[in-house]
Amino acid sequence: MALRCPECEANALRVETAIELGSDARSDEVALQIVNCTRCGMEAVAVYEESRRGALDDDSVDHRAYPTDREALAAVRAIIASCPSPRDPNCGCRGHQRAREMLRGGTEPAGLDWSRRLPIVYVRS
Ligand SMILES: [Zn+2]
Ligand SMILES: [Zn+2]
Repeated sequence: MALRCPECEANALRVETAIELGSDARSDEVALQIVNCTRCGMEAVAVYEESRRGALDDDSVDHRAYPTDREALAAVRAIIASCPSPRDPNCGCRGHQRAREMLRGGTEPAGLDWSRRLPIVYVRS
């Protein structure tokens, strides 16, 4: 499996780091990520959501990136790095709280354009 870069369309997108946030009202698994493309160098914040409540098809996964400037990338990197256990959705640290607030609010950090969704597609290799 590879991830297609929404900017250059090469199958060269990687998840650099992620923090698992567990379930919310809409999804069973939510993660806030930083993704980067090894081909064009694009870096962005991404949100991965998976729902197991509906039929098990491609529609049950929603993965998208948002255009993010350097400062916002650094802010999100710092939030993820501050957590002692980013793969644990039950972790109650300040980093987990801030990541949740960011997703819920959809306004922070400045420099992240929440209105522009760039869909990330999985490609079978
Ligand atoms: Zn790219
Ligand atoms: Zn945490």
